[in-house]
Order: sequence, then C-alpha cells, then structure tokens
Amino acid sequence: MADYDVIVIGGGPAGYTAAIRCAQLGLRTACIDRWRRPDGAPALGGTCLNAGCIPSKALLDSSELYRLAREELAEHGVKVGEVRLDLRRMMARKEAVVRRLTDGIATLFAANGIEHLHGTGRLLSPRRVELAPAEGGEARALSCGHVILAPGSEPIELEVAPVDGERVVDSSGALAFASVPRRLGIIGAGVIGLELGSVWRRLGSEEVVLLEAQETFLPACDHRIAQEAFRLFTAQGLDIRLGARVTGTRTGRRQVTVRYEDGTGAHELRVDRLIVAVGRRPATEGIAAPECELVLDERGAVHVDELCRTSLPGVWAIGDAVRGPMLAHKGAEEGICVAEQIGAGRTEPVDLGRVPAVIYTHPEIAWVGATEQALKAEGVAYRVGTFPFAASGRAQALGQTAGLVKVLASAEDDTLLGVHVIGPWASELIAEAVLAMEFGGSSEDLARIVHAHPTLSEAVHEAAMSVERRAIHLFARRG
Ligand code: NAD
Repeated sequence: MADYDVIVIGGGPAGYTAAIRCAQLGLRTACIDRWRRPDGAPALGGTCLNAGCIPSKALLDSSELYRLAREELAEHGVKVGEVRLDLRRMMARKEAVVRRLTDGIATLFAANGIEHLHGTGRLLSPRRVELAPAEGGEARALSCGHVILAPGSEPIELEVAPVDGERVVDSSGALAFASVPRRLGIIGAGVIGLELGSVWRRLGSEEVVLLEAQETFLPACDHRIAQEAFRLFTAQGLDIRLGARVTGTRTGRRQVTVRYEDGTGAHELRVDRLIVAVGRRPATEGIAAPECELVLDERGAVHVDELCRTSLPGVWAIGDAVRGPMLAHKGAEEGICVAEQIGAGRTEPVDLGRVPAVIYTHPEIAWVGATEQALKAEGVAYRVGTFPFAASGRAQALGQTAGLVKVLASAEDDTLLGVHVIGPWASELIAEAVLAMEFGGSSEDLARIVHAHPTLSEAVHEAAMSVERRAIHLFARRG
C-alpha cells in the first residue's frame, strides 16, 4: 500500500485547502511545506498568511485607523488627544494575527488527520515524492496515489535593483520596517506597490515615489476606475511616475540612489528605503526531477488544463504555480476542485472569468469580469451604468464618498459582463456582483433585487439601474 493517497507539495492557501478537502473526503493526506517562522518553527499558510495577504492587511487596517484618528475623527466631532504611532506595537499585533491564523491551519490539519511534513518536496515520478526534511538529514522517497503541486510564487528580482534585505527590500521586508522611512521609493506601481506605499504614507513617510515602467496606470483595471484611483492616490501623496524605467541603483549606508529614465530624460531619486515590487513568478524551480518531464509553460508555470491536470497522470497543479491570476482565493478554489476530482469524482472547473480581484488601498478597488476597454477591443456591444458614492446616503454618513460603481452589461441581452468598484468596502461589495455573474444574471436582476437602506450596496443597485438610465439618486444621468 502507498504511504498516502495524496501528497500535497506546498501549504499555502491552494495547498492547505486542497489537503483539508482531500482529508474531508476520506483520503490519507500529507502536506509537505518548508516555511519557517522567524523563530525557526514550522508554519503553514505559505506567503499569503505569513508574508503576504494577511500581514499586509493587518498593517493596512492599522495604518488606516491611525490616519482616521489623525485626520478624520475631528470631522465626526470626536476629539482625541495627541495621536502617536507605536510602530513596535503595530508590528507585534500584525505578528499575532499571523500567528493565530497559521496556528489555526495547524489545528485544522490535526483535526482532519493531515500530516504536515516539514521540508522540501520534489516530484520523482507520478506516484513518488522526495521529502528533504527542513531539519536536515537524509531525503526519503514517499509513495502516493496522487500528487498535488502547490508551490506558489516568489518575487521577481530586478538586476538593476538587487534586494539586500536592508535598504532595498521585497514585499516581505517592507512589511517589517523597524521605523517609518522618511523617503520611500517603490519600483512597480502594481498591487503590492500601491498597498505598501499606502501603509507607509499613512504612517508618516513624507515622500512615497512609485516608479512604474508602463505608461498606463493599472492597465488591468477598467480605465475609468484606474483614472479615479490615480487621482485619489495622488491626492493622498503617492507620487506615481509612469513610463519610468529604472536603470540602476547605488546603495549607501544611509540612502539608496535610484537612476531611472522616462520620456523627459534621465533622473536620480534619493530615498531611505526602496521596495522592489515588479511582480511574482511561479516558484517551480526544482519542483520535479528532470526525468519526470513535467511540462512547464514559457513563464515557468506548470502547464495544466482547465481541471488542473498536468502532463503527468495523477499529478495535479494549482495556485500561483499555474496559469491564471496569482490570487489566494483562486488557488484555494482550484485546491477544492482537484480534491473533489480525486476523492469524489466531481469535475467542475474553476471559472477563471469570474475570479474577483481586489486592491486594498483606501478606497479599495475591486472588480469581476471584463473591463470596458477589453469589451471595446473585442467588439462586444455593451451598455454602461455608473453610480458615485457621493450620492450614497451611507457613504455620506461614513464620510467616505470617493469613488464609484460601474456596471457593464450586454447591449443584446443585458447579461452582466463586468462590475467595477472603487470605494469604501469595495472588497465586500464585489461579492454580490460575482454571485450575479456566476448565475448568469443581468443588470436588470441586480436592479430589481431589494437592497437594504442605507447601505453601500445600494450603490451597486443604483449603478445597475443606471444601465437603463433609471437610477433614482442621480439627477445628471450618466452612461
Ligand atoms: P503587479 O503585476 O501587480 O505589479 C507590478 C508592477 O511593476 C507592474 O505595474 C509592472 O508594470 C511594474 N514593473 C515591472 N517591471 C518594472 C521595472 N523594471 N520598473 C518599473 N516597474 C516595473 O505585481 P506585484 O504588485 O508585485 O504583485 C505580485 C502578485 O501578487 C500579483 O500577481 C498580485 O496579483 C499578487 N498580489 C495580490 C494582492 C491582492 O490581491 N490584493 C496583493 C498583493 C499581491
């Protein structure tokens, strides 16, 4: 008998979710993961829980509270004394949140009878995996019925800006600065650059300069939303320089000099710290012995079909290491999809066209489905409805009136094609749109559903009504 029914390599959101669902279905499951906490102990949860989504959200929430206390409480008639930052406490709280959640996964593993093998896993053949223990010692081969590869992703490095973990850091380093940098440089104005730039700007960085190679800001976002975001972030003090190609960096004892070129010539920027956030790549190096002949694509991602089957029988791959957006929730759904194929014979692919994307800035940005520019490029006939949060009673009460909701629906049959939100709690509001689209809903469906008053969700309702030019709280009917 094989050692296990399933071995999962990687214990991030994709891998640990796959392992739990496999165990729920009665499969003898092990999950190999090598992550170590700063104190050296093993930790599950991968980048998301340990050094990505969760610690960054803890800092985004804490820093936003600090900003609110300093800038907005007075407007609500709440007087507080001098507001001061205790960065050490904020970081300790972030660590505690991470610890609770990673320990929670370990508890779930124990409750489901999943073995966490601390070390590095490597595919030897479709039914054999090598485990190199993190504590050292000899590698051993394990046998199993199925292998699920979930090795995640790693930051892309820039030759012109090598990370030293001190002055020049990647996203992990930027979540653990011991003091607030007075001048902060960021290479890449993508998701990580904007989220981390927001954190440090709110905590007191006087200059936050984002150098972005592309001429278009947030090209994956709907243009109208990206335009609004650029305006709002600039007003918050993020200095976003587009079309900026970094050509070199020089790291001194106290500062980093960044050389870059844009349409107007060559420039130098001096900052105290520099964050490199130019994207992530699949962490597939060494995931399989060469003789397996596991097929990777040109980006180094494991090649899979819509059901996450690799080129080898009984070997599956999920999460950031395969095609599709690098998002924890997408990986987790793929984990469930694969576990249910193995353990229950269910073959329901994850619908990659309905994966919501969120940027946790303030205001937040969230969307699902197509952008207006993509529909134009594809020649799809569509109608647009928009609604500004400034016209929402709840947003006014909250004092968070920036942003809008934009709904795109088919001009032929009104099917929802895309929903885009920039505004308060966009990350939560988008769930309604995902549900509606997953059920093949129309803008009329959203418009005819009763939404509680006063809530932010009424903005989604009114944007859907505005597709037919019948939004109630808009006198200037916009399209
Ligand atoms: P990203 O792709 O969002 O942004 C990277 C940016 O860097 C791009 O705008 C790119 O044009 C720019 N860039 C690339 N090379 C450059 C160069 N040499 N000089 C200047 N700019 C350059 O990637 P990211 O922000 O690093 O995030 C990595 C991954 O992590 C993404 O896939 C993202 O989906 C995921 N992530 C998601 C969230 C979230 O869902 N909220 C948060 C953090 C990270």
